[in-house]
Amino acid sequence: MKIAIIGAGISGLTLGNLIFSNKNQEIEFQIFEKRKKDHKDSGGIQLSPNATNILNIIGFKKLDYANFHLPKSINFLDLLSGEKIFDLNILDISSRDKPYICIKRSVLIDFLLNRLQKDIVNFNKEVINIKNIDNYKKIIFSDGTSYLSDLIISADGVFSKIRDKEFNRDQLSFSGSVAFRTDYIKSSEIFELQKENISVFMGPSSHSVLYPLNKEKDFNFVSIISKKGLKVDKEDWTKNINNFNDLFYEKMKNWNNNLRNIIKNKKISCWPIFKVKTIDSRIQNNIILIGDAAHAIVPYHAQGAAQSIEDAYLLYKHLKKNNLYLNIQNFQKIRKKRILEVEKRSNVNQFIFHLSNNYLKFLRKNILKFLLKNRVFVKIYFNKLFNHKP
Ligand SMILES: Cc1cc2nc3c(=O)[nH]c(=O)nc-3n(C[C@H](O)[C@H](O)[C@H](O)COP(=O)(O)OP(=O)(O)OC[C@H]3O[C@@H](n4cnc5c(N)ncnc54)[C@H](O)[C@@H]3O)c2cc1C
Repeated sequence: MKIAIIGAGISGLTLGNLIFSNKNQEIEFQIFEKRKKDHKDSGGIQLSPNATNILNIIGFKKLDYANFHLPKSINFLDLLSGEKIFDLNILDISSRDKPYICIKRSVLIDFLLNRLQKDIVNFNKEVINIKNIDNYKKIIFSDGTSYLSDLIISADGVFSKIRDKEFNRDQLSFSGSVAFRTDYIKSSEIFELQKENISVFMGPSSHSVLYPLNKEKDFNFVSIISKKGLKVDKEDWTKNINNFNDLFYEKMKNWNNNLRNIIKNKKISCWPIFKVKTIDSRIQNNIILIGDAAHAIVPYHAQGAAQSIEDAYLLYKHLKKNNLYLNIQNFQKIRKKRILEVEKRSNVNQFIFHLSNNYLKFLRKNILKFLLKNRVFVKIYFNKLFNHKP
């Protein structure tokens, strides 16, 4: 079987690595990526145990510890006052074999790329069209070249052109939230915070997250602000950047001094967060959607990449079996259930993180402080998410 994976992002490269690591099977595959080979993604990412557990199958354990960070706890603070509210002990929800880590996105992508044979990933290959020729799919690239395959795995991210062309349009919608990030922050620029751990600042309709990424202690800062009625041009959201920046600086005025001082001279970049409705049928005409192309969810539980990795792993397991059609139907059913559960949890987190009512904040403080110190509760609540292997 000849497979074309479109997109060398987290889901496409994880799937490629899983197929590549099982050299005996009869799958021939190529990965096509529109970006240039030397492009480096910026920003950081948290990878929970359900993701690292799968990445371990392809040798993630061998990655030098200097390249990522193992936080011990997630500290939740008030975005306005800076006061610590409660914390979650990460050691209660992870283990040595399945750690919870923070890592630069570029380090993760390089790890995934470096394990593949050089002639598997084709850069500068933007897919612009797909045609059916007999039983084959003909993939057409913007440089005029083409490739024939039996099956296409569309791992081309939230703005997937393949989803828009080959599946139902209108799966994409603006979530009402905008993400903001700075360049990496140096450890020497950070004061009054536990530098070993993840800090989540919760405030009215907004939260900010700061965490170390590696041994050098580069820090990642990201803030998510939501606003009712915020308009975004789906075709070209860059037209809305001025409105987003105004929103950020308006919100930031009220944040605690410490956080404001950390980011005050930093260049801020922003992007609106889009959701992709979990599609009933993500398989059509020998094309399968995985990752954000199939189910972009709001990033309130740091689960988007983790779910893309789970997709890749389960699809890989089903590709190995005989009756591909039936297997794929099964894959789709299992993944839909899981994504809907994760999405619900992300929505709960958004509600909890973005509270503005003082009475609800009081309840949040007292109830969660108690629950997160209760190891039995923590294990039961997070096990379902983090101890899951598809
Ligand atoms: C603010 C923010 C913070 C986040 N933090 C976390 C976190 O801490 N933990 C976590 O698990 N998740 C996080 N996520 C979510 C995570 O980033 C995504 O879910 C994940 O990157 C999706 O992986 P993917 O492989 O589906 O898509 P991507 O990683 O976006 O990869 C898609 C690839 O396809 C390529 N491509 C697109 N179109 C074409 C085409 N036509 N032809 C060829 N190639 C194409 C793109 O260039 C890209 O390389 C966060 C998201 C946001 C917005």
